Amino acid sequence: MSSNRPTLPRVRLDAASYESLRQQVLHRDGWRCQSCGTMSNLEVHHKEFRSRLGDDSEANLITLCAVCHAKAHRARS
Ligand SMILES: [Zn+2]
Ligand SMILES: [Zn+2]
Repeated sequence: MSSNRPTLPRVRLDAASYESLRQQVLHRDGWRCQSCGTMSNLEVHHKEFRSRLGDDSEANLITLCAVCHAKAHRARS
């Protein structure tokens, strides 16, 4: 019996699907950071971390600018 079976990666969307999901989220949020309202340097943030139960669904994603996104990852209260 071989025990060096690679662990299966979590199911992830392919790049094209993820990109279209991103566009949906950006559109839903009106192309504005949902924290400060800026319309530049937008990124999509997972509300639940992927390592927990967060998954790639529109409900779990939010539009944040690069600055607020960095803060969201730093400020874990
Ligand atoms: Zn912001
Ligand atoms: Zn994030």
